Amino acid sequence: MIPITVVRPDAEQEALVTEVLRSGALAQGAMVERFERCCATMAGTTHAVAVNNGTTALIAALRALGIGPGDEVITTPFTFVATLNAILAVGATAVFADIGTQDMNVDADDIERVLTERTRAVMPVHLYGQPADMERIGGLAANAGIAVVEDAAQAHGAEVGGRRVGGFGVATFSFYATKNLYCGEGGVVTTDDADVADYVRVLRNQGMRGRYEYELQGENLRLTNVAAAIAVPQFARLDAIVEARAANAAHFNAAFADLPDVVCPVPVSGRRHVWHQYTLRVTDASGGRRDAVVAALNEAGIGAGVYYPRLVDEYACFDGHPRIVRRPCPVAKATAEQVFSLPVHQYLDAADRAAIVDATRVALT
Ligand SMILES: *Cc1c(COP(=O)(O)O)cnc(C)c1O
Repeated sequence: MIPITVVRPDAEQEALVTEVLRSGALAQGAMVERFERCCATMAGTTHAVAVNNGTTALIAALRALGIGPGDEVITTPFTFVATLNAILAVGATAVFADIGTQDMNVDADDIERVLTERTRAVMPVHLYGQPADMERIGGLAANAGIAVVEDAAQAHGAEVGGRRVGGFGVATFSFYATKNLYCGEGGVVTTDDADVADYVRVLRNQGMRGRYEYELQGENLRLTNVAAAIAVPQFARLDAIVEARAANAAHFNAAFADLPDVVCPVPVSGRRHVWHQYTLRVTDASGGRRDAVVAALNEAGIGAGVYYPRLVDEYACFDGHPRIVRRPCPVAKATAEQVFSLPVHQYLDAADRAAIVDATRVALT
């Protein structure tokens, strides 16, 4: 089986984790600070505050902006459920805007259609590592006087117009085990806003400014030094990881260019795609055909997968939810029935790529 994700820690990571273990300082400390400096450099921001996962990072970012009950947050319905869960967790209302066909990210024109006087933020997701249209989204958010909260969980090192994602307002990254950079469970909030960074620092540590100086109702969102040590050595390799993934994606795009009824993931010009997933669309039919293609690929030993098979709110647990504003999102709806992803990670070799191309061509024709 060629898996869709490979976690292969190297000697440098092992040495740094061992160093932390031997130091006895396992909880949040100096290694977490080092991780934060790496994150700030990655996002091109002045502040980076580490937390224990990407979901708590989103919740902390919304809380830092004072977003809660009565406030609306515009986002995409074509995302992982953490995006929606975070909005609902702070008591806010999720409002969906449709996505674009090329970048599969929330569409700026549709955001404008759903703005109300209760809108407090827009939360674009840089899905699969392809950045959203941050130039337009940033501009319309500034005009409307609302915040931008980027869900960059899948987009370490992605860029728009030469600017790193993570720096267009308040942003969050995940370091879950399967992301492009990982530490098992981990997250970070990046921003140039000193007040937001300060709020998240206090919030994550039980609301304490200093020892037993309770300043707000807090939580324990701390990352551990052990987890930080797994992540820290990877930042120096981020460009190499992205280049290897991009080379695999270019190889696949060339190999599938002649196939009918399949749309290859072409990066939008001016944006740096970091290829968290390589995602094709089967356009000639419904989800039934796509599911058969994925089953055939799995049968042939290719770890293809579907991210995501339904819109995020199309589950019984969200039926009739009073704080989800539903409206037709036809592009997102069709996309969820058409997409499937192939392994694109940096550990693929030439034989893996050839096996993936052959099996995919057979499955699609
Ligand atoms: C992974 C992911 C998250 C959540 O991150 P965790 O670290 O797993 O909590 C949020 N949004 C998106 C789009 C993700 O892919």
